Amino acid sequence: MSTRLILIGPPGVGKGTQSALLHARLGLKTMSSGDIFRKEIEAETDLGRMAQRYIQHGELVPNGVTIEMMAKRLRDEDTRKKGFVLDGFPRTDRQAEALDEILFEMDMGLDKVISIEVPEETILHRLAGRMGCTKCGEIYHSRNKPPMREGLCDKCNGPLFVRTDDQPQTILERLRVFKETTEPVIGYYEKTGTLLRVDGSVGPEETYQEILAGITA
Ligand code: AMP
Repeated sequence: MSTRLILIGPPGVGKGTQSALLHARLGLKTMSSGDIFRKEIEAETDLGRMAQRYIQHGELVPNGVTIEMMAKRLRDEDTRKKGFVLDGFPRTDRQAEALDEILFEMDMGLDKVISIEVPEETILHRLAGRMGCTKCGEIYHSRNKPPMREGLCDKCNGPLFVRTDDQPQTILERLRVFKETTEPVIGYYEKTGTLLRVDGSVGPEETYQEILAGITA
């Protein structure tokens, strides 16, 4: 099955968790713009240094570099064969238009754009306390899903880290940017008839089942 999906929603709604499930269970290739930027920052590349200046303040990295970075990955043969899940891209109208152009060039369409929806107070609670594994990407939470051993991943033993942009002030800025710039992108896809709204405030498995029902309907 070659399914092409976008996961869209404010920070902390569970896009990373759902994209990991879609990869594990359906074999879809996952592309998270945020993860790609974090890897570039860790590798201290020019792109990483530039992106870091925006990410640390909760602002969006400029469209030009973001589109170029994602276009390179989308044009990979794997995307055509395996299908894909885009997590965190597109986040602006310009990015959505650029994605349309790239997919048109590749003669591919989108199956569903999945908007994961969660009340704002839940988001704030989830982001404060979130930790991720540096090795396998598994996500934990100090209260909701603590690791068995402090600071270590249950799955692979890798060290856990707290994202620098999961600080209270930056979280509020990221939510503001989402409402102002990314929410209109949901409206864009609503008009194309590809939008699927799912509830992200239930457990990850329940949300996954809603997605599965929506994409196989
Ligand atoms: P995320 O991991 O998706 O929450 O992304 C972390 C940060 O990376 C965001 O707050 C932005 O600064 C940057 N970023 C990720 N994806 C994009 C995008 N599509 N456009 C611009 N900036 C992005």
